[in-house]
Amino acid sequence: MDRNVTLMRSYNTRGSGLASPSARARMVDRLRQQGIQCERVLDAVNTIPRHIFMDEAFSGRAYEDTALPIGYNQTISQPYIVARMTEALLQGGCHKKILEVGTGSGYQAAILSKLVEQVYSVERIEALIKLARSRFMTLGIRNIRLKHTDGHWGWEDYATYDGILVTAAPAEIPQELLFQLVEGGRLIIPVGEAGKQRLQVITRCSNSFEIDDLEDVSFVPLRIGNQ
Ligand code: SAH
Repeated sequence: MDRNVTLMRSYNTRGSGLASPSARARMVDRLRQQGIQCERVLDAVNTIPRHIFMDEAFSGRAYEDTALPIGYNQTISQPYIVARMTEALLQGGCHKKILEVGTGSGYQAAILSKLVEQVYSVERIEALIKLARSRFMTLGIRNIRLKHTDGHWGWEDYATYDGILVTAAPAEIPQELLFQLVEGGRLIIPVGEAGKQRLQVITRCSNSFEIDDLEDVSFVPLRIGNQ
């Protein structure tokens, strides 16, 4: 049987036990204690069932504050980081059109879909795109458009974006992404080699850019190419 079909059948979107709404509510309380203040972000985290974005083998750990494997040597980001990046993005003001680089499991995109009009998300591993698409269908999410491509180049067809959120770390900021931002738009991006990455917020002001440095983070690398 097709792997996507198997996964869709085995999803329990309401959840039970560790995957239940109360586990999600506890995760939201923890995010509050960790300093996440934006109620809209907390609501979105409370709404999206994180356990369906990973293999069943790990779904019992879905509401722990940890990154977890999603196959293909990639991970779903830690809930705190997802919330922190989303909060930083929304602080930029207007957020109709957002580009995410690194779809992975689709969890971050699903959170964004509750907060902005249209999400565009690009990923270099095609199999992950297929899985993410089937999860969005299961959840009835219709405002995410996906593309299999190298995210260093953004997604020019729909540029410019009110915000761009990158969920894998380049050694240096890809210039192309900066010029796909609207004026006043924000790029949220982890930058640096493994072991010394910093989460940065870059705001476009006409043709100059303002950089804010947020905190230490640990992301998988932003790789070159889409194979
Ligand atoms: N946002 C994801 C996190 C996934 S981890 C989630 O919520 O699950 C980062 C993802 O970035 C991986 O899936 C990896 O394949 C992808 N990635 C790495 N380099 C990339 C590139 N150059 N272009 C697009 N995606 C890339």
